[in-house]
Amino acid sequence: MSSESSSTELRPLAGRVAVVTGASRGIGRAIAERLALRGAKVACVATSAENCAETLAACNAAGPDGGHAAYGVDVSATEDVATLTKQIQTELGGLDILVNNAGVTRDQLMLRMSEEDFDRVIDVNLKGAWNFMKAATRPLMKCRGRIVNIASVVGITGNAGQANYAASKAGVIGLTRSLAKELAGRGVCVNAIAPGFIETDMTAAIDEAAAAELKQSIPLGRIGRSEEIASAVEFLLGSGGDYITGQTLVIDGGLSI
Ligand code: NAP
Repeated sequence: MSSESSSTELRPLAGRVAVVTGASRGIGRAIAERLALRGAKVACVATSAENCAETLAACNAAGPDGGHAAYGVDVSATEDVATLTKQIQTELGGLDILVNNAGVTRDQLMLRMSEEDFDRVIDVNLKGAWNFMKAATRPLMKCRGRIVNIASVVGITGNAGQANYAASKAGVIGLTRSLAKELAGRGVCVNAIAPGFIETDMTAAIDEAAAAELKQSIPLGRIGRSEEIASAVEFLLGSGGDYITGQTLVIDGGLSI
């Protein structure tokens, strides 16, 4: 096997520019690092570029060709996202892949959930994804690019205490299906991943007893890892995803069956 063909196999995303939101930690960091390893130039986005410093260092180590960069934006701010998306295209040389991963929770039972808790979760998780999809649609149409949205299994099943979050993630699944229909004719595949319970800062907030109970209800008997979500993103962005669009891939150790 020539070194050229083996490098194409190992780095199928070589030369592609990938925007990953929520890249400072958790699932987003694992995705950014994996895409860098597979050759992509990664724009790591979080609320501030400084928050992405460790991810950027990991990308530079994983994808030594470089070209990675860190950016800060509030994904819920439509104009700022539009401006940043143009800046990334100029600085990194295009935009081929969008991974909408930034997300927040503000869990509360309905009786105690404030309007602000509802609005913020919808603004970040749902409108944030829409903002980047809106800004990226034109460049992605030009290069038959790809979008992967990180939803959640609770967007399918619902969850007590997470009406805002579940609604935002159900919305992300609806956005995914709709844009998949709109962009299929332009060769752009749009899919979602619905993780179950993954060990990150987000789930560290769940109290020990509740986490132990949740773990008991997972048929595979363990909490998931960020790298396992990154593997699915890698699959959808590679040749395995060539004929897949509008789908939601549940990765939850069987929690929802
Ligand atoms: P996390 O560790 O809490 O990280 C959240 C990321 O989102 C951080 O990079 C954060 O940036 C960024 N972010 C939050 N608000 C933002 C805003 N307004 N603008 C820009 N960036 C913002 O979360 P995670 O567990 O890795 O989750 C990642 C995604 O997977 C989320 O969409 C989450 O809903 C989804 N998910 C997670 C699980 C799970 O069990 N962990 C399950 C299902 C779905 P800063 O560091 O700058 O704050």
